[in-house]
Amino acid sequence: MAFQSFHPPVRTLMGPGPSDVNPRILEAMSRPTIGHLDPVFVDMMDEMKELLRYAFQSDYALTMPVSAPGSAGMETCFVNLVQPGDKVVVCQNGVFGGRMKENVERCGATAVMVEDAWGTAVDPNKLEDALQANPDARLVAFVHAETSTGAISDARTLAEIAHRHDCLVIADAVTSLAGSPLKVSEWELDAVYSGTQKCLSCTPGLSPVTFSDRAVSVVKERKSKVQSWFLDLNLVLGYWGGGGKRAYHHTAPINALYGLHEALVIVHEEGIEQSWQRHRNNHEALRVGLEAMGLSFAVDAASRLPQLNAVNIPAGVDDAAVRTRLLQQYHLEIGAGLGPMAGKIWRIGLMGFASNRTNVLLCLGALDAVLGEMGAPIERGVAVGAAMQAYQSQAGN
Ligand SMILES: *Cc1c(COP(=O)(O)O)cnc(C)c1O
Repeated sequence: MAFQSFHPPVRTLMGPGPSDVNPRILEAMSRPTIGHLDPVFVDMMDEMKELLRYAFQSDYALTMPVSAPGSAGMETCFVNLVQPGDKVVVCQNGVFGGRMKENVERCGATAVMVEDAWGTAVDPNKLEDALQANPDARLVAFVHAETSTGAISDARTLAEIAHRHDCLVIADAVTSLAGSPLKVSEWELDAVYSGTQKCLSCTPGLSPVTFSDRAVSVVKERKSKVQSWFLDLNLVLGYWGGGGKRAYHHTAPINALYGLHEALVIVHEEGIEQSWQRHRNNHEALRVGLEAMGLSFAVDAASRLPQLNAVNIPAGVDDAAVRTRLLQQYHLEIGAGLGPMAGKIWRIGLMGFASNRTNVLLCLGALDAVLGEMGAPIERGVAVGAAMQAYQSQAGN
């Protein structure tokens, strides 16, 4: 049997990630592989740390990409900061808060859960109550942008409350980084992890993290060894840490890092605030189009993520059939609901490079056609025009 090269189709990725990768990034990744201790590569790593600090709006020295996907960034935060016997307050309002709980328990610690309904923001009052009831808690963890539901939480306020109770803060910024305002140093978030395949529009497989000096001292003063050898920052820093000497820890994913470097250069060129604004503008146009069609959002306007639109599936519509038809006829991928929201919502991503006018109009036009053909109860033929008008009024103000 003769095996042939794999040639994936070209899709438009408007789900919960990965998002469309900027061709500049794919081109950067195809450049020559060099040694991971080559001085030229080491210079690139130093520049990447600076670019990451810009994207995170962080001035923390320990800022670097973990060589594995967002979930590994999550584990890096938990295994390094949580010690056996600790008490950690975990805010959950979707899938990823549940994974935080798993992480806490696997570190031999106790998770105190603060739960909010899926599709709503974390309630700061509930966090305050939980911390008053648990004065021995050492850490607070929450998801800034819940990709499973499309809701954003007030990271600044949650961090303020946590610090008032002498807790460090772990924040999941996988979907918020570069898509929604995120100011790590100003908000004093202590350990933040992200991913490359959401609003950075890079290929999946890396997880930028940033740790405050306070968090680094906790890691350095641990009584017990970090349970994961690979993710132990005390060891990883021998490679990624500052100073001239780099010791081999693991072979860095060289070409993947070229890609992330390019992605971060692109963010820097655009400007981080301009990137946030572009995500907002495209979301607004999509929203106007969807609402003109008669579709509604699953999340209240105040907590809506611009980069992840959770849209209620109209009654009687076959969720999977619509997504299949979008993929087959329009090469367009949108996301399904997760957990309790499965079958109830679609998750339409407008992340990074994919947050653009072409995608908004394609998605509205394709949904209009597919839902119309299936006899769904929508207003046909108005969505694209409504979105175009929204763009026009944006340009005018
Ligand atoms: C995607 C995502 C993750 C996990 O990232 P992977 O790269 O899939 O491991 C974690 N948290 C949130 C909020 C995410 O959206």
